[in-house]
Amino acid sequence: MDKKLLGIDLGGTTVKFAILTESGEIQQKWSIETNILDDGSHIVPDIIDSINHHLSLYNMTPEQFIGIGMGTPGSVDIEAGTVIGAYNLNWTTLQQVKKEIEAGTKIKFTIDNDANVAALGERWMGAGENEPDVVFMTLGTGVGGGIVMNGELLHGVAGCAGEIGHVTVDPNGFECTCGKRGCLETVASATGVVRVARQLAEEYAGGSILKARLDNGEDITSKDVFELAEKENDDLALMVVDKVTFYLGLACGNLGNTLNPSTIVIGGGVSAAGEFLRSRIETYFKEFTFPQVRESTKIKLAELGNEAGVIGAASLAK
Ligand SMILES: [Zn+2]
Repeated sequence: MDKKLLGIDLGGTTVKFAILTESGEIQQKWSIETNILDDGSHIVPDIIDSINHHLSLYNMTPEQFIGIGMGTPGSVDIEAGTVIGAYNLNWTTLQQVKKEIEAGTKIKFTIDNDANVAALGERWMGAGENEPDVVFMTLGTGVGGGIVMNGELLHGVAGCAGEIGHVTVDPNGFECTCGKRGCLETVASATGVVRVARQLAEEYAGGSILKARLDNGEDITSKDVFELAEKENDDLALMVVDKVTFYLGLACGNLGNTLNPSTIVIGGGVSAAGEFLRSRIETYFKEFTFPQVRESTKIKLAELGNEAGVIGAASLAK
């Protein structure tokens, strides 16, 4: 019988699980709530219980699995299989995730950070088309990324390779949580888009629904900005989209010039803006790349949605 892979996507609100074939087809999937109480001490035991429960439910044994792969927030030591500093899980001290899960399930375990794992997923079964050189960028609450070169994730000397969110796109820009200025994350995350909108609104004097809503003190989201730009042709919203996609195109251009991947995949909540967003990033990407890169590196939208995590995690186990 063919051996299976088990992928886990650990997040601050849910833990998603999937059993996959070696060729990446999801056969079973389920999820549990993430219990972050008591310093996140329930998370790993809950994961072990859930795996063992589902294996017995499906009449499966640990021997039928090649391994378990997991994507997690926080700083990951991939060799030791430990995690620290995952604040949305309340994991502030070192967590022996690999050791505990291997002991509790009797299945080999591999772990990496969530953005890297999503990059593997999109590279394997999504927009990356299983090409060896793929860059993934996720535009969500923050901006994350993962870089696959020659079929392998890049980690760097301190595990920081692929931290695309902290690429500087405006040296005089907004302060970032990392301590420097003008990081891509400060302008292209969901909150970043709203920050750009507020900044441009201050100097804007024309007629705009977005401007009126901001002046009224309404809460707006990045989704509102993209919808007003695309559907209402709102002047200020279009200016915001132009500025955000300029920064994204600049970052993608420099990634393209440095790495020349077959594809730069754009995912995360902000990418729900779809082709309207992608085509504008591509226009600036072309402006900031030299001819050979411009012609060979493509800008694409992510295809796997929230399954990228479990699929990429499963591929870690291969
Ligand atoms: Zn930063």
